[in-house]
Amino acid sequence: MKKRIVILGAGAAGLMAAIKAGETGAEVVVLEHTDAIGKKLLMTGNGRCNYTNTDLSLSHFHSLSDPDKTFIGKALSSFGYGETIDFFRSLGIEPRIRRYGYDNGGYVYPASGEARSVLKALKSEADFLNVKFYTGCWVRSVAYMKDQDGRPIFHLDTNLGMIRSDSLIIAAGGKAMPKTGSDGSGYELPATFGHRFWEFMPSLCALRCVGSFFRDIKGVRCDCRLKLLISPPDEGAAAVREQEHLESPMDIYGFLRDDMLKETYEAYGEVQFTDYGVSGIPAFQLSRYVSLAVKLRRERYILLDVMPDMDPEELRELLYRRRDKFSDRNADNLLNGLLPEKLAFMFLSKAGIKPSQGVYFITDQTIEKLARLLKGLRISVLDTNGFDSCQCCAGGLDTTELDPSTMESELMPELFFAGELIDVDGDCGGYNLQWAWTSGAIAGTSAGKVRRYRNYPEIFPTNSITYQHLMPEAEELHKKKGKNDKNQSA
Ligand SMILES: Cc1cc2nc3c(=O)[nH]c(=O)nc-3n(C[C@H](O)[C@H](O)[C@H](O)COP(=O)(O)OP(=O)(O)OC[C@H]3O[C@@H](n4cnc5c(N)ncnc54)[C@H](O)[C@@H]3O)c2cc1C
Repeated sequence: MKKRIVILGAGAAGLMAAIKAGETGAEVVVLEHTDAIGKKLLMTGNGRCNYTNTDLSLSHFHSLSDPDKTFIGKALSSFGYGETIDFFRSLGIEPRIRRYGYDNGGYVYPASGEARSVLKALKSEADFLNVKFYTGCWVRSVAYMKDQDGRPIFHLDTNLGMIRSDSLIIAAGGKAMPKTGSDGSGYELPATFGHRFWEFMPSLCALRCVGSFFRDIKGVRCDCRLKLLISPPDEGAAAVREQEHLESPMDIYGFLRDDMLKETYEAYGEVQFTDYGVSGIPAFQLSRYVSLAVKLRRERYILLDVMPDMDPEELRELLYRRRDKFSDRNADNLLNGLLPEKLAFMFLSKAGIKPSQGVYFITDQTIEKLARLLKGLRISVLDTNGFDSCQCCAGGLDTTELDPSTMESELMPELFFAGELIDVDGDCGGYNLQWAWTSGAIAGTSAGKVRRYRNYPEIFPTNSITYQHLMPEAEELHKKKGKNDKNQSA
């Protein structure tokens, strides 16, 4: 008798877990509540899928419940960069590494440059291993009974029928971009088993800032350094925060502390200005700290440095030289060729210089002011752009309740977790997919291990439900649904 493993969620982590569990010879069933598998995977890396990074240092991974990163480190040591590249190579996906000037690591994409080739390879391997997929399937409740060895047998009540399972892997994603299916419903099941959560926060998204000038520079892209400044902790705010936490839903366990946040963070790269603030990789990298600052009620600003390759002294000298050189021209020439035009006009106006005035009349004081602004325009940050448009959800299932070498729950045997649902999030650059592959591979392989021979009787009485072999019924329903869908579209 084969071990049956049910996986909830057909995203990156669920697909990896399905293949690894299938390789052990287990019978694998994947339940996906949307109408298609791997929706988010198709959107990754702007449709090109940045599936890992050559630099997997722990500084690129974050967790509220694993601040010293021992959990993450242990997991990555058993399935890291080499294993990921080899695994995808074995499926026919050759890596192509792109390096960006501002990053130590190399972003790894499939040589095809298409995320759909990654999804196709994963699906085809899963099909080869006879993994069954049920889309449009959601779990209404789970009951379990313990056998004589204390190991549970799960009974999942789904809209397609009742499904029995020896192991359950929950890989239902976080709350980021719910239109792709990760709507947070995957947190409900672990909560029923007594698991705890750290607060969910949007990460890897644009920042909403204060400033009417953003309307004038919308669409401009420019290499910048962003420095995020967080105000020191305030006792009054901490008290309000504590009260809020007491009143928050029961499943939010992790209490955010002020010491989880430093007072400055920096990011460098191409910033995209929008009509409400800043976007692009540097803004994305800072967004998890902005989310934390918002939750902790700490004031936050960014210092925008639009001349990141020059030190302040060099810039001052350059501006004085340009004032001398263009003394017989209009002020709109002063920054021409240094910055995109819209940005140059915005900075001239902030320094009190009219583009039509003569350069000759710009005072030393104004040059000093302009130099200071170009190296650090202080902008107040309201919040991130929220879950609807973020790429990652920080927070989630408490890592202290999981075994990093198996991804098995410490509270319930045969219950495993994988992917973004766990309280681990990564920087931009392939780290979040890497976490999905790492945790998915570990969970799938561990769930597939038959710990002992089981010969179940056909009928089990349980407290809440009666065990029957109902999977064939679910298949029947699914087939009928498929036929109806075909008839409707014909
Ligand atoms: C636009 C965008 C671009 C990105 N680009 C990159 C990138 O280039 N590189 C990178 O490393 N990361 C990237 N990420 C992040 C990365 O995609 C995610 O971290 C990763 O996909 C998480 O995988 P997962 O399997 O844990 O969750 P998901 O991919 O979210 O999959 C979860 C699956 O579970 C299903 N599900 C949810 N609840 C239930 C339920 N109750 N029952 C059944 N099924 C359920 C969902 O429908 C979904 O199919 C990007 C994210 C976005 C949104």
